[in-house]
Amino acid sequence: RAIFEDRANSTGPNIEIESQWLPFSEAVTGFSQQQWLGRPYLNGQAVDGLPGHSIQAPHDHRITVGEVQFANAELVNQAIEVAAEGFQRWNETPVKMRADALRKLADLLEDNLAELCAICHMEAGKTIQDAIDEVREAVDFCRYYANQAEHHCARPISLSQLQGGQRLWQRQGRGVFVCISPWNFPLAIFLGQVTAALAAGNSVIAKPAEQTSLIASKAAELIYAAGVPGNAFTLLPGDGATVGAPLTRDPRIAGVAFTGSTETAQLINRSLAQRDSDPVPFIAETGGQNAMIVDSTALPEQVIKDAVLSGFASAGQRCSALRILCVQEDIAERIIELLKGAMAEQVVGDPRLHSTDVGPVIDREAQAGLLEHIEKMKSSAHLIAQTPLPADCDQGTFVPPTAFEIRSIDELGREQFGPIIHLLRYKASQLNNLIDQINATGYGLTLGIHSRNERTASQIEARVRVGNCYINRNQIGAAVGVQPFGGQGLSGTGPKAGGPHYLMRYTQLTPVQEMR
Ligand code: GLU
Repeated sequence: RAIFEDRANSTGPNIEIESQWLPFSEAVTGFSQQQWLGRPYLNGQAVDGLPGHSIQAPHDHRITVGEVQFANAELVNQAIEVAAEGFQRWNETPVKMRADALRKLADLLEDNLAELCAICHMEAGKTIQDAIDEVREAVDFCRYYANQAEHHCARPISLSQLQGGQRLWQRQGRGVFVCISPWNFPLAIFLGQVTAALAAGNSVIAKPAEQTSLIASKAAELIYAAGVPGNAFTLLPGDGATVGAPLTRDPRIAGVAFTGSTETAQLINRSLAQRDSDPVPFIAETGGQNAMIVDSTALPEQVIKDAVLSGFASAGQRCSALRILCVQEDIAERIIELLKGAMAEQVVGDPRLHSTDVGPVIDREAQAGLLEHIEKMKSSAHLIAQTPLPADCDQGTFVPPTAFEIRSIDELGREQFGPIIHLLRYKASQLNNLIDQINATGYGLTLGIHSRNERTASQIEARVRVGNCYINRNQIGAAVGVQPFGGQGLSGTGPKAGGPHYLMRYTQLTPVQEMR
């Protein structure tokens, strides 16, 4: 379990320097007028001629952002053949060369920052801050896994043998790794999975989320431009039934990395289990029903700042986001009053504007599900506050930031992936019981603790079962290399992304030489 008290600094591109801001912002605006093409990439080339469909901007469906062509069954089969062929050579490529290609990719991402941010706005509805953070995290993943590969895979490990002598072991790639990534981090998590798998020596077939194939296609071009061979990386945009399902059923694959819903992870797990071929690693990073526990010693203003950011930033579309704000009853009224004030100040709207705090949710289906939850809660729970939507929001898929007061965690059901916070009062004497209820959701991703009493913070930490615990700060935005990220239970298998053990799951240890 990782416990973080401070916000760590990233090593990625930093355009918060004033003199760089204006040209950057103008460049992003320029790119935002453009349209992009999303296609499969096989053998280092874009595959053309498949039927396409147009992509609309989540914040305004009248704007066409580009066209995406999805892979078909034939291409899936071809991709596995190509990747199987590409594995040997890439795995035998010196680790330093593989790592250098990933460092080059990081440089190319930085060079293309403005265009990548524009695609994040237009395809994924990301705000300016979220778009910059997205590219920054992707850059960090490239460099981190390049360094990790050099650390763990470049030199053989020497182990003493029972009868004396020594044996050398080498970390190698496993084969064809399938990477299935989500729309909420369409570049960072997409490249996090891909670069870890490539760094370890695997060939990769990547299936991005259907909603965000444009940025994945742009990333594919950069991956090849960085020097990754055409048969070591394949991109297959497409839907789960046509692309994801046959990939995870195929006996030729050597592992799957997945980030997305718990339900889809369970499907993939079943699909892998039903194969007659060898069992393979499955790395799943899924949802959360994340709580923040606020005791009476907490600083109310700090709590509100962190709760609003954790619950509403990225329109609540992070698996780390705050869903249940648990407040000790002694300070509940004060927290509610401040929360109402802060929510009245939130600005919902066009993600390209500096003034916007909360952009749209990804698509109509997500919007409908969240609005349905809000309606249902209005009849069973007390509505604390709802940020009004400006009039021009009706052309996009917006959901107003909303806070309810609930009486029990049982009222919640499944994770709601959007800007909705549920506040729950608790008595100090019920703290252990509250933690047990949080554990009983079965999820275990992030937990926020706000307390100035070290004993209380330690008591909570010791009892709660989560992957990432954040004290007196917000609970989103884990930084690569310093805040390894990932949960337990329904929240995923581990190992933690951006942590020192992540790369290992993509490798196998093989004996290379025995010395007596
Ligand atoms: N790593 C992200 C964070 O710390 C969340 C990743 C996700 O939503 O899948 O906020």
